[in-house]
Amino acid sequence: MIRIYDTKSRTLGSPPASGQVRIYACGPTVYRDVHLGNLRSFLLPDLIRLALAAHDADSFIVQNITDVGHMADDSNLDTSDSTEDKMLKQAAAEKLSALEIARKYELGFFQDITALNIRTPDQTPRASETIESMINVIQKLMDKGFAYQGENGSVYFDATKYESYGAISGNTLEQLKPGHRLLDEIDETKRFHGDWALWKITDNRRSELTWQTPWGVGFPGWHIECTAMCLDAFGDQVDIHTGGIDLRFPHHENERAQSNAIVGKEVVGQWVHAEHLLFEGRKMSKSTNNVVLLRDVIDAGISPAAVRLAFLEHHYRQQLNLTWDTLVAAETTIARWSDSIVSDQYNHAISDQITEHLADNLDTPTAIMAIRGLEKSLAKSPKERSMMLNAASRMLGLDLAKPKLVIDDSVIKLVQEREIARANKDFNLSDQLRDQITTAGYWVNDTSSGPVIRRSIKLP
Ligand code: AMP
Ligand code: ZN
Repeated sequence: MIRIYDTKSRTLGSPPASGQVRIYACGPTVYRDVHLGNLRSFLLPDLIRLALAAHDADSFIVQNITDVGHMADDSNLDTSDSTEDKMLKQAAAEKLSALEIARKYELGFFQDITALNIRTPDQTPRASETIESMINVIQKLMDKGFAYQGENGSVYFDATKYESYGAISGNTLEQLKPGHRLLDEIDETKRFHGDWALWKITDNRRSELTWQTPWGVGFPGWHIECTAMCLDAFGDQVDIHTGGIDLRFPHHENERAQSNAIVGKEVVGQWVHAEHLLFEGRKMSKSTNNVVLLRDVIDAGISPAAVRLAFLEHHYRQQLNLTWDTLVAAETTIARWSDSIVSDQYNHAISDQITEHLADNLDTPTAIMAIRGLEKSLAKSPKERSMMLNAASRMLGLDLAKPKLVIDDSVIKLVQEREIARANKDFNLSDQLRDQITTAGYWVNDTSSGPVIRRSIKLP
């Protein structure tokens, strides 16, 4: 039985034991490259999938693409039109249309998750293509008395009508005081400062990403997008809903209120959140100039598998302070493990252990420790160890057997010439060749079974 921590009940719970487990994962807002922090959160549904697969259970993952409506400030306290849509802001900066920006960064998201060996979700609905469903669910909320139209035409969710508001994050409506700093900006047409916009009416200053509705021309609020896409995909029951910890409030709180109000019962079985990633001790954000992309890591000579390993070595519910040193160490481990894979055969003697750790609230650090223990175990032959490593790493999506490094022919030739020079004991020539290999961006590890070529790591 798999147990995963549910943020709402604050206890470990289990997804249904039979049938396909339905997972909705909050996806990227596609106005910029996803960074390592985003990727840590996107790994979470993949880990749940692997934990279920280890138990022979099937899953179906839906992850949305937000390509409209995510404002620079989505707090409940400021829904005025003065905040900018992240998509439109970037479109202006890059002199592209909003949808061109969306497709560009969406592609980058798919490339990055693929490189990290995160399986592509079964469905990836786009917000901009789900507007009709959003209009339908907003209408339902109005019909049921959970939403109202303000004087400016925008439609708001009436937070006071939803009794258990705040259950996920603990931010109850009483605690939700209007922010004094924002008082001037508070939308006068909202009945209560904790209400939020479902549909925002806009004027003709906004030239893109607007749609005609019964309430006028406008665009959706971010939170209603996930309600519409989630209900579209799964109907009235979702087993697991994932996201980064920052989405607990207001995004998931608001989504829960909307979805439950429409369906008339608790829609989501378990809310699962990944803690944040820091880099070199600091928050990963544009404003602090501390954003690291997967591309930066690959450019430094570190493989995506090493990034995945570094993530797995920390529990998803713990803040992870990633550093270049951690990534270099992970790369060394991945290289060592890859080199020790001698065949594509599997020995499943370790699989039960890995299954158990994954089932224990996705305890990947202990699973990795089990692999490290296996490496040192003298009770097994090198071949057995290699086959067990094959099995364990595959269960964690590490795929060590995949070819990772494409080496230039010219470098392979230099290494071969160096082997001949060494055999002839021409150490001067051998050293010169080593220098040339280094200049080309590689280094050679002379092992008992011959030279192993590695890309040099060059940290930024
Ligand atoms: P966004 O593209 O901004 O909508 O964010 C996509 C996902 O990344 C969300 O689930 C966020 O919670 C998550 N996220 C953002 N920053 C971080 C971070 N530093 N560490 C972990 N997850 C993050
Ligand atoms: Zn969402």
